Amino acid sequence: MMNPTGRDKERTLMKAILMTAVKEPFAAREIPDPQPGPGQVRIRLRATGVCGTDVHVWNGELPVPLPIVPGHEPVGVIDSLGPGVKSLRVGDRVGVSWFQAGCGRCQYCQRKQIKFCPEPRTWMTNGGGYADYMIAEAEGCTLLPSGLAWEPAAPMFCGGFSAMSAFRIARPRAGERIAVIGIGGLGHLALQIAKAWGHEVVAITNSANKEKDARDLGADEVLVVKDHVGQELLEMGGADIVLSFSPSMKQNSQALQGLRPDGRLVTTAVSAEPIQIDPVPTLFKQTSVIGSAQNDPADLVDILQLAAAGKVKPVLETYRLDEIASVMVRLAEGKVRHRAVISHQA
Ligand SMILES: [Zn+2]
Ligand SMILES: [Zn+2]
Repeated sequence: MMNPTGRDKERTLMKAILMTAVKEPFAAREIPDPQPGPGQVRIRLRATGVCGTDVHVWNGELPVPLPIVPGHEPVGVIDSLGPGVKSLRVGDRVGVSWFQAGCGRCQYCQRKQIKFCPEPRTWMTNGGGYADYMIAEAEGCTLLPSGLAWEPAAPMFCGGFSAMSAFRIARPRAGERIAVIGIGGLGHLALQIAKAWGHEVVAITNSANKEKDARDLGADEVLVVKDHVGQELLEMGGADIVLSFSPSMKQNSQALQGLRPDGRLVTTAVSAEPIQIDPVPTLFKQTSVIGSAQNDPADLVDILQLAAAGKVKPVLETYRLDEIASVMVRLAEGKVRHRAVISHQA
């Protein structure tokens, strides 16, 4: 509901998308305008990426307090500062990370590793970006490079950050060959990141109709898996690093066979299945399996810079906020190419 004066500062209600129960369609509601507390800012949203994790939340695989405003890839303009905020200003263009702040007192917070804090402040505590406004911890905000538009910036705050962290945690060396399993929301970014760093990249997909897509994104070779991803990758010469965005742990287990000596498999997907590791090749080839999420805040800054430089271009489907329920269905059905984003300006 707009305030009759039309002035944003005097609004008392805002439009927000609420998740009220597991598997209930996200629905538009009017809720009170949020106000920033100490150390927090209020953001007028401009774009919010729609992440695969939203589907896990919607399905109840990742429990969250309900009701909640989802949306953890938000970007917008700071329009209000809470008490004590010093580094940010009204008018700043920012995005908000999943992990915004820690308790400040645990051993991980002391090490500035808030991702490991047992009581982090996230979109689950502060509310997310599927709304006109959101609240964020000032220390959870990252300034956008000038020239980077809202829509391509938004998916960098979870998808791009995660893809960059997966690449970095493998400690890639010059000349190494990198395979990317799954050319979806994260995979299509990881492929471009590896190319931007000058690596030879093998894109791995289960569907032949993604082959041209992968080549257009810069893949040097494409493996369309027939039966066993590891054996088929090995027949193509193997890879030093496999960045896997596949939710199939059977496929990730097989992928270990496709590693060259000293190879690293980075796994990123949320799954209840175990990965099976054959100890003999693991021993003789000295391979490793590395779990990765959003590891180092510098990874986020770097992917934003790559996006601003046009070296990583997310392939986007753009929607309005009131279309979110149907976007969720489309995403759950695997139809999004490659990332959906809500444009709050539309
Ligand atoms: Zn802590
Ligand atoms: Zn996400």
